[in-house]
Amino acid sequence: MIALDEAQSRLLSLAPDAASRAEQVDITDAIGRFLIAPVIAQRNQPEHDLSAMDGYAVAGNGPQWRITGEAAAGHPFSGTLVSGETVRIFTGAIVPEGATCVIMQEDMDRDGAMTSLRPGLAVVPGRHIRPKHGDFRRDDLLIPAGTRLSAAHIGLSIAAGHARLSVAQKVRVAILSTGNELVRPGQPTNAGQIPASNGPMLAALLQGPGVDVEDLGIIPDELEATKAAISDASADVIITIGGASVGDHDLVRPALLELGATIDFWKVAMKPGKPLMAGTWQNSVVLGLPGNPVSAFVTALLFAKPLIEKLGGNPMPLPRARRMALACDLPANGNRTDHLRARVQDGCVVPVGVNDSAALLALSQAEVMIIRPAGAPAVSGGESVDVLDLT
Ligand code: AMP
Ligand code: MG
Repeated sequence: MIALDEAQSRLLSLAPDAASRAEQVDITDAIGRFLIAPVIAQRNQPEHDLSAMDGYAVAGNGPQWRITGEAAAGHPFSGTLVSGETVRIFTGAIVPEGATCVIMQEDMDRDGAMTSLRPGLAVVPGRHIRPKHGDFRRDDLLIPAGTRLSAAHIGLSIAAGHARLSVAQKVRVAILSTGNELVRPGQPTNAGQIPASNGPMLAALLQGPGVDVEDLGIIPDELEATKAAISDASADVIITIGGASVGDHDLVRPALLELGATIDFWKVAMKPGKPLMAGTWQNSVVLGLPGNPVSAFVTALLFAKPLIEKLGGNPMPLPRARRMALACDLPANGNRTDHLRARVQDGCVVPVGVNDSAALLALSQAEVMIIRPAGAPAVSGGESVDVLDLT
């Protein structure tokens, strides 16, 4: 049995570096993906001084100017203004040479070819002009590698001249559920049978912009069938659910060993989820999760998700805990890191009180999970504990 944090770092070290998994994608497919190559500006933004308003680009202090032309977005005025001249200008148009500032049309009174500043107003040099290079310059580093791309990053990258970006390849994930007792969702259950809820639950938990999850369904507890299912799964991450313990029907480990997989660790000092297995087979990382639904969920959150995040280019793939005040006392913890399903009430965290690793109702009602490290002393209400978000 190894400690939770050691198991997490050993699992992550089985994953190849995201830099070796770069691909160029159309920028419209890049949302939520992690950048491998930084985004460098290929142009200046703006390339010229631009008007930020509809109004008049004026030269000199006025208060009266003669209108000599017009400048609109995409239709520049080609001349140079001298003091006393103005051009009618619109938002986004290039500010003509010689202009002192742009005056909003609301601040001017126009009379034929002349326009004058309303009484009490003054010319402020540079006003309502977006200066050339004001946002960024060619060759500026705009977005560093390792960034998860947001909608604003997409806009910025296009403004900087890009149509494609280098991101980590999508992570292909295959999920296999093992168990003779499992039936497909919605099917009637005979004595001893249960609906196979884990596969679709974990597919929902693990899917994301840089992830292709395939739920390969239910595999019977038979060695050959288990081996065949694993060897047919072509994915970066193969997740098996159930059959990871030491019972006669727990065949995931024997199947992996017969296939020639390397098992890196098996059994982690955590609750729920002790019988967790990790290793590699051919080009896949294999993760054997326990079958109890809450154990499967918690181990997927703490192991499968970070592994997928790392492969997908996230430089900080582990979930980050935050501190919250406890609403009640908690006893000292044993020698395995415990994860208590909990709710948030008045800004404090309260365990739901049901810790059965098969209790899906309690899991569904929990918003957070309190982390109780191995050997943690008792804590009193009002003290802070580490929590992880579940929603
Ligand atoms: P196992 O790890 O195979 O011993 O399974 C532990 C418990 O989890 C058993 O009660 C199984 O019936 C249950 N279980 C295993 N796989 C699933 C699944 N895919 N969906 C729901 N329950 C499961
Ligand atoms: Mg089983």
